Amino acid sequence: MTTAGAPSLRLSGGCLCGGVRYSVDDAFLYAVNCHCSNCRRTTGSAFKPFAGIASEQLELTAGADNILRYGGDEAHDVHCRTCGSFLYSMLDHGRRIHLAMGTLADAPSIRPSAHIFVGSKAPWYDITDDLPQFDGHAS
Ligand SMILES: [Zn+2]
Ligand SMILES: [Zn+2]
Repeated sequence: MTTAGAPSLRLSGGCLCGGVRYSVDDAFLYAVNCHCSNCRRTTGSAFKPFAGIASEQLELTAGADNILRYGGDEAHDVHCRTCGSFLYSMLDHGRRIHLAMGTLADAPSIRPSAHIFVGSKAPWYDITDDLPQFDGHAS
């Protein structure tokens, strides 16, 4: 029997070299695949699957002193300083995280529900699923 206030399931994840690890509540608010050019360059992939959550629900469990921040205080990307893995974006002056889902070691409950910024997707990549597509942000 679950009780109010019971801790939600925690998921773990981390970077390529294992130097930076995190744990996060399995309580993501949304997840999408972003095809914008910034996400493509940051990840080196056709698109970036990311999931949104309040920043206090993610905790760095290893390597907190070994991260590389790219960007400013309002918004920045967090990478492992050793291997360069892109872990998440910090938004809204540190209040919200867009977790790069590819760094999760455990499977989250949520699945990407849409493709966004399809207007700038890579011409060499064809979307083959039936998820809704948006030229920009999901409306
Ligand atoms: Zn690393
Ligand atoms: Zn993007």
